[in-house]
Amino acid sequence: MRKLEIDWTRCDGHGLCATLLPDDVTLDEWGFPVLTGAPVTAGELANARRAVLACPTLALRLSGL
Ligand code: SF4
Repeated sequence: MRKLEIDWTRCDGHGLCATLLPDDVTLDEWGFPVLTGAPVTAGELANARRAVLACPTLALRLSGL
């Protein structure tokens, strides 16, 4: 089972992940991501990988890879 995770020592709230994965990530009032915590389904995996690669600070990752 794969899940999105955030390294809070790296994330600086660009919000790109919420734009790329609106079903899995929302933003709090300060613009930092809030994960649903739901497993990434096979159908979501390609988009999740794209978001991981696009994170400007390499804070977003997929567990289980
Ligand atoms: S794209 Fe990366 S740095 Fe930006 S909010 Fe998401 S996890 Fe944080």
